[in-house]
Amino acid sequence: MIKRKLTREVRIGSRTIGGDTPIAVQSMIVEDTSDVKSCVEAIIRLDEAGCEIVRVTTPNLKDAHHLAEIRAALKARGHGQIPLVADIHHNGYKIAREVSRHVDKIRINPGLFVFKRRLPDQEYTEAEIREEREKIHEQMTEVIKACKNNGTAMRIGVNHGSLSERMMFIHGDTPEGMVESALEFIDICESEGFYDIVVSLKASRVPIMLAANRLISERFAERINAYPLHLGVTEAGDGQYARIKSTVGIGTLLAEGIGDTIRVSLAEDPLEEIPVCYDILQALGLRKTKVEFIACPSCGRTKFNLTEVVPKVRAATEHLVGLDIAIMGCIVNGPGEMADADYGYVGKGLGRISIYRGHEEVLKNVPEDDGIAHLIALIKEDGRWEEPPATKKVANL
Ligand code: SF4
Repeated sequence: MIKRKLTREVRIGSRTIGGDTPIAVQSMIVEDTSDVKSCVEAIIRLDEAGCEIVRVTTPNLKDAHHLAEIRAALKARGHGQIPLVADIHHNGYKIAREVSRHVDKIRINPGLFVFKRRLPDQEYTEAEIREEREKIHEQMTEVIKACKNNGTAMRIGVNHGSLSERMMFIHGDTPEGMVESALEFIDICESEGFYDIVVSLKASRVPIMLAANRLISERFAERINAYPLHLGVTEAGDGQYARIKSTVGIGTLLAEGIGDTIRVSLAEDPLEEIPVCYDILQALGLRKTKVEFIACPSCGRTKFNLTEVVPKVRAATEHLVGLDIAIMGCIVNGPGEMADADYGYVGKGLGRISIYRGHEEVLKNVPEDDGIAHLIALIKEDGRWEEPPATKKVANL
C-alpha cells in the first residue's frame, strides 16, 4: 500500500487538498479569458467530466475582472462550487492582487514574478541579487495580504523551463535551482504568516521533474510545514507518448507517497486529460472511479475467445464502480493470478468456463455463451448489482 507523505491541508474553495484528502484532479481551459461565455462553457464541460479544480489564464488586469464574470456565470448555471485558479504571468503582482478577490487560488510562477530580460550570460552582482530579492518580497507581501483578506490560496508553481535568471546564475538549470526557487517564495509567505500554499515543480523531462519533487519532499521533511504538491509533466505533447510520459512522472511520485493533486498536460482537448488522471490514480489504488478489470493476455491454454469476451464482460459490468472483475484464460493459473478480484470468469475447458466469487469456484463448466448471464446472476444474488444507467444498453447477453 502507498503511504502518502503528510502535507498540510489547504482549502481551495469547496475542495481541500493535502493531508489525507483524495488526490484532486485538475485541468486548465484554453479559451481566451475575455471570451467569458466560451470560458464558462469550457469550465462546465470539465466540471461535468469530473475535473475537480480548473485553472484559467489571467494575462492582464481586465482578465482579472473577466474572472469575476466567469465566476458569477458559473454560479448562475449551478456550477459555482468548482474551484477556480487564476494563472498569473510576468510581473503580474497587481493582477494577482486583484484576481484573488474572484478565485479560490492564484498560481504564480517564481521565475516570472519579477521579470526583467537580461543579456545572455550577463552576470549578477551581489547588489542586483539583493535588489531583486527585495522587490520580490515587497510585491509578494502585497499579494499575500490580498490572499489573506480574500481567503485565497496560492500555488507557487516553478517550471524548469522558466527558472529566473537569478536562480539559474546561482544554482544552474537544475532540480536544486527549482527547489530553491520555490523555497524562497515559501519563506516569504511564512514570514508573512501565510500558509495556504500549494507547490509545483514541473519539467518537460521526467527525470528532472522526479528529482525536483523528491528533493522538495525531503526538504519539507526538515521544515515545520510540508505543503501539498501539485504534480505534472509540462509540455508532454499529445497522443500515447504524452500519456505515458505523464503517467511515468506523476505515477512514480505518487507511488512514493509524493503528491496531492495532479494535472496531465496534453496538447489536446483538456477533457482528454481527465480520464488519464483518473486512470493513474486507479492503477495505484489511490482512487476508485471505475470497475477494476483484471484480464490475462491468454495463451495456448485458453480454450475460449478471451479477447472477444473481455469487452463483453466490460460492457455488461462497467457501471458497477468499486468491483474488481477478472477474466482469466485457464483454470490452471487463472484463479491464482486473478489476485483478490471480487468475481472471476475463468476458462475451464473447450467452450466452458467457471464463475468465481473471490477464490471460490461457484459455478463449474458453464457453457461459454451463458457465462456473462451467470456472472450477472451471481452479482445480483450477492446484492452487488445495480441496473446500468438508462442510456446504457447491456449488449449480447
Ligand atoms: S491465466 Fe492461463 S490462459 Fe491466461 S495467460 Fe496464464 S496460463 Fe495462459
